[in-house]
Amino acid sequence: MSQKTRPVYLDYQATTPVDPRVMDVMTPFFTEAFGNPHSTSHSYGWEARDAVEEARQQVAKMINADPREVVFTSGATESNNMAIKGVARFFEGRKSHMIAPVTEHKCVLESLKYAQKLGYEITWLSVASNGLIDPDDIRNAIRDDTALVSVMHVNNEIGVVQPVNQIGAICREKGVYFHTDAAQAAGKTAIDVQDMNVDLMSLSAHKMYGPMGIGALYVRRKPRVRLEPLMDGGGQERTMRSGTLPAPLVVGFGMAAKLVTEERDTETTRVRDLRDRLLKGLQQRVPDLYVNGDMEHRIAGNLNIGFKGIDSETLMDALKERVAISSGSACTSAAVEPSYVLRALGLSDEDAHASVRLCVGRMTAPEEIEVVIDAISDAVRTLRADGARASVA
Ligand SMILES: *Cc1c(COP(=O)(O)O)cnc(C)c1O
Repeated sequence: MSQKTRPVYLDYQATTPVDPRVMDVMTPFFTEAFGNPHSTSHSYGWEARDAVEEARQQVAKMINADPREVVFTSGATESNNMAIKGVARFFEGRKSHMIAPVTEHKCVLESLKYAQKLGYEITWLSVASNGLIDPDDIRNAIRDDTALVSVMHVNNEIGVVQPVNQIGAICREKGVYFHTDAAQAAGKTAIDVQDMNVDLMSLSAHKMYGPMGIGALYVRRKPRVRLEPLMDGGGQERTMRSGTLPAPLVVGFGMAAKLVTEERDTETTRVRDLRDRLLKGLQQRVPDLYVNGDMEHRIAGNLNIGFKGIDSETLMDALKERVAISSGSACTSAAVEPSYVLRALGLSDEDAHASVRLCVGRMTAPEEIEVVIDAISDAVRTLRADGARASVA
């Protein structure tokens, strides 16, 4: 890898670096303790199995679940697919309706489209201009044949925290499964599957300083959630997810969960302070900017800011040597369509195109915030001056 200085990283919602403390506990499971956690005839297998079970407890503790309710998967994409398609297939022919907001992650939207092909009708809920959904809209949309409500805990583009506790209470009262994609919530806001009355919850390690390629689906045992597995095979993970567990990644995920459980409060305070300094600095130096999404019900690290008259692709290109940011979700950033999340808040195509996501995280240093304020205010000023010259010419 090159030794030249890297740009300041402010894209913590796309992925996070692996915490060195996570890396330390993972390494021996690649080299010495490399056993297959499902091998039952020797100590290599037992050692890996014990480590996997400890990690399962660490992940369970982070969300106040029973370890038997934690099913390891390859990440939140798989967990979301498993939850939605699994429930759709289990209740096929008996239930025929699901509910979700339009601002869900692509993998939730696409899994719901799969359910649609199986014959389910989907109620797509709109959100308010602050990005939040109204729990009463959920209550009004639930029918006798509703199988599932899926609402993400924290939005990956605008960082808003949905009222999941209220939604969970409604779903429990009505006897409807409640799934939440909590990939962006873990480590950023309190997660308690009991308080939330959640039945299914998706998690991803690489959004919380663990490795890529590992995640979990929380599957409630009481009352028991029924779903059809996606993977057929050796029957691992209580038959819900066949395939050899990647023990090193599982161990890393466990450590990442432990760190989050212990350090979330102090980290949140520090990250919020940096985020607020960033916003204040930009507001002081850059005219005509707007923040997308509610500021109060929002995770500490996130900003989604529009700069009037600027094209976000051009801005990111101008910044690329100094700051790494994105216009929204990593999966869709190759496409130049405006963000469907920002469009759902009521932004025009032009204002959606003028917006970028900035996310502060665990490794962000205070000096970096100053670099970013300088870089963005310089770039926006230059681009606006160029734009003004071009429109005169
Ligand atoms: C990153 C992310 C995903 C996908 O998670 P992977 O573990 O990368 O598959 C799903 N939902 C949300 C909200 C995310 O931010």
